Amino acid sequence: MRDETKCLHAGYTPKNTEPRVVPIVQSTTYVYDSTEEVASVFDEPTKSLIYSRFANPTVMAVEQKIAELEGGVGAMCTTSGQAASLLSVLNIAQAGDSIISLGEIYGGTVNLFAFTFKKLGIECIFVDKNASDEEISKAFKPNTKAVFGETIANPALSVLDIERFARLAHEHGVPLIVDNTFATPIFCKPIEFGADIVIHSTTKYMDGHAVQVGGVIVDSGNFDWTNGNFPELTEPDESYHGISYTETYGKAAYIIKARMQLMRDFGVYPAAHSAFLLNLGLETLHVRMKQYHENAMIVAKYLQNHEKIESITYPGLETDENYALAQKYLKGCSGVISFVIKGGKENAMRFMDSLKLASNEVHVADIRTCVLHPASETHRQLTEEQLAAAGINGGMVRFSVGLENVEDILEDIEQALQQA
Ligand SMILES: *Cc1c(COP(=O)(O)O)cnc(C)c1O
Repeated sequence: MRDETKCLHAGYTPKNTEPRVVPIVQSTTYVYDSTEEVASVFDEPTKSLIYSRFANPTVMAVEQKIAELEGGVGAMCTTSGQAASLLSVLNIAQAGDSIISLGEIYGGTVNLFAFTFKKLGIECIFVDKNASDEEISKAFKPNTKAVFGETIANPALSVLDIERFARLAHEHGVPLIVDNTFATPIFCKPIEFGADIVIHSTTKYMDGHAVQVGGVIVDSGNFDWTNGNFPELTEPDESYHGISYTETYGKAAYIIKARMQLMRDFGVYPAAHSAFLLNLGLETLHVRMKQYHENAMIVAKYLQNHEKIESITYPGLETDENYALAQKYLKGCSGVISFVIKGGKENAMRFMDSLKLASNEVHVADIRTCVLHPASETHRQLTEEQLAAAGINGGMVRFSVGLENVEDILEDIEQALQQA
């Protein structure tokens, strides 16, 4: 199946007389005929369903669809994108380990990696995307377990050189984890360029309608966990009477361990109803992504020549510093544009407060146009230094172009710019 067909059909194939649409199985538990059978599922949790803290038929249909769209061997949904980032790393790193992350990533992920991971004993070393291979190699230590970056960084909108960072990670025997939230598998499949693990905040384009918060982790199945750096995957797991994930599950070792161990213990599994809503979004993902890109290109070109705009970042513009990387890795650049209004923070806020159609809200990648001021909102907790590393300026506005008629979006921008 091609992407458009997968969006509609992957993950669920009804049999004779079964419902056409993925059913909402809103049940926490599953019935068994005998105690012995229940006991056997505790020995072998992937055998059948026992409890909706770590598996549920509605959620599993969505997991299968996303795994197929990304080209992975398996996927696991989580209750948020944050939970996906958290578990994607905790599955392979523990106290005493370190990870390497690109500096230009989502503010929530910076908080998680720089502050909360520190409390858990995991060190995160941030690197600059423009640093040389030698400089980045210096950040690797014997305890490094992963490299992390975003396909299209939120909100810096830089494009990750996936092949380069996959090569650097692999040279040091660790996987590359890519947050593919803004690109979605419609515009980029990081696994095809060497990424080992792909994560998403499904809250954004995948859902698209702002009706559920969710995340997902996809396992490419390509990374060799038996290289000596990942005893947690190869050695017996005490909490599962001595199972070795690589021996028992082969290519799916990482994603099955994430479910059997971390989802069992942390319990951040989405409700069936949320997965149902996410699935509705996924069904039209390919149609929406193309239109977001088309609308955003028009808005970006309009702003590029505007006298009130100091600078604009959109990887689809030929003048953008990420244009070449975008051409290489992306089939489209999403609907998110960031620009700096002349006059700094005050003017940026006046512009935002003057918008009539675009909503001033803490969201991005919605079906409706929305706008946010990173410096004073999402990235508020970051220090000046971290703001600069994340590519954020006080006058910067993150504008998420929706699917309204683009002329209406332009008129709204124009009248608001006149107020600034
Ligand atoms: C929003 C976002 C997250 C966090 O996802 P939530 O669903 O809000 O927890 C992670 N990464 C990126 C790139 C995001 O845009």
